Amino acid sequence: MLFDFKLSTPSQGLIDITSEVQEAIAESGVNEGICIVFCPHTTAAVTINENADPDVKSDFVLGMDKAFPDLDSFCHAEGNSDAHLKSSTVGASETIIVTGGKPLLGTWQGVYFCEFDGPRNRRFYVKVMGE
Ligand code: ZN
Repeated sequence: MLFDFKLSTPSQGLIDITSEVQEAIAESGVNEGICIVFCPHTTAAVTINENADPDVKSDFVLGMDKAFPDLDSFCHAEGNSDAHLKSSTVGASETIIVTGGKPLLGTWQGVYFCEFDGPRNRRFYVKVMGE
């Protein structure tokens, strides 16, 4: 089953979408299988990271800005090449094992939608496969 979620994002940041992923798996009825979380945008991404200390989210944004500064020498007319670089580096999808009708995540792991060029209206997909 394919699930389509919409969200409004801040200028930059990580949005916890773990509950949406759990909701999609529960609604699919799949007990054992996999799910794919996919971001259909070129200046956003999906990742799995710590869900305990909220400072990790702000440090993530800070670190990405340091790693991918908005250079004057970029040519892309839209002016958001740094966001495109961050998007491809982090990646458009995550594959998560489904077991016992739940996503198999570590104790400190959450699933995040990463916004690098907001605020925008965004969407992501969750495809759940299995039995
Ligand atoms: Zn662009």
